Amino acid sequence: MIVYATHKGGRYLPIEESLAEQPEGKRNIYVNLTNKCNCACTFCLRNMKEMAEEHSLWLKSEPTVDEVKNELNALPWDKIAEVVFCGFGEPTLRLPALVELLHFVKENYPEHPTRVNTNGLSELQYGHETASAFRGILDTVSISLNASSPEKYYELTRAKYGLESYEGMLTFAEHCKEYVPNVVLTIVDHVTSEEDIEKCRKICESRGLTLRVRPYENS
Ligand code: SF4
Repeated sequence: MIVYATHKGGRYLPIEESLAEQPEGKRNIYVNLTNKCNCACTFCLRNMKEMAEEHSLWLKSEPTVDEVKNELNALPWDKIAEVVFCGFGEPTLRLPALVELLHFVKENYPEHPTRVNTNGLSELQYGHETASAFRGILDTVSISLNASSPEKYYELTRAKYGLESYEGMLTFAEHCKEYVPNVVLTIVDHVTSEEDIEKCRKICESRGLTLRVRPYENS
């Protein structure tokens, strides 16, 4: 699936099925651009979830920008709340496509807020500042903080850039503050101790960043 909605029980549904199951109210839609990632997190759902083929977030091939635009144009927009770029992979690994699609949503469906869920490693990936690419097109960036130290972060994420990854992710978050109205760092309660959560709060406070502790599997 390229575009999907999430439902109770950690299920991913195409929009038609989502509407059939829950006709009332608005829902977020999620855009799944890639299955590639520059991390190999120990808790990654990609390694754990078995899904029926028609409900799978495993992509047979990465969708083109036009394919995504066609799916977005076909959505019942009166039933949509937020547009979230988040799937079974790291969306910033397709940064040019991601930026083009965020522009597309902002130009064509400007009343719908946009969000990117990311591991925050794009500046290490590309070797330069990337936060400014989101100027004017992104309302919220949700960055996985995961842990309270470079060592714990690396142990959990096995990120491609080693121990430097943690500082690279935090630096990206700081850069985003200039271009994105809501910059949120997240940790998952399932994999983080109370003591670590407190340390994460202090790290975020010291850098002027907002922390959200989220339940496992909740997008
Ligand atoms: S960053 Fe996300 S997609 Fe990548 S390995 Fe970690 S949990 Fe999975």
